[in-house]
Amino acid sequence: MPQNPTPAAAGDTNPTTPLTPERERMIRIWHEELFRLKDRTAVARREALGDLLTEVDRLRAELAQRDKDLEPYEALNPQQCPAGQHLGWLVDSEYTHACPWCRIAELEQLLAASQSTAKQLLRKVASAPSQREAGAA
Ligand SMILES: [Zn+2]
Repeated sequence: MPQNPTPAAAGDTNPTTPLTPERERMIRIWHEELFRLKDRTAVARREALGDLLTEVDRLRAELAQRDKDLEPYEALNPQQCPAGQHLGWLVDSEYTHACPWCRIAELEQLLAASQSTAKQLLRKVASAPSQREAGAA
């Protein structure tokens, strides 16, 4: 529930007031009107308002650039770990559903199992009598 659902009155300092296009247009008009005034307070307010409007423009340009940076990712399809153990990821094909982190875990288990088997075989070979010893017996 918004705290201030009605359009902001002039001079409203509620920080939750959205900067609607109409409100921004009014603020830019006030900024222009301050150029006619020459007293120190008016000059200081004009400069502060000018800085603020410049910052608004800079942030808008930055936001537009961020939106542009995200465009390549909008074509990607979100995926979820079927086991629910890993964060989601994006793919450029809807046919790729395997969780890459689950696959890595599977491969690490296979590697560990094969290393264990290899160690057992090496121990067996090391403990078996050599061919010469076997032939001499
Ligand atoms: Zn996973």
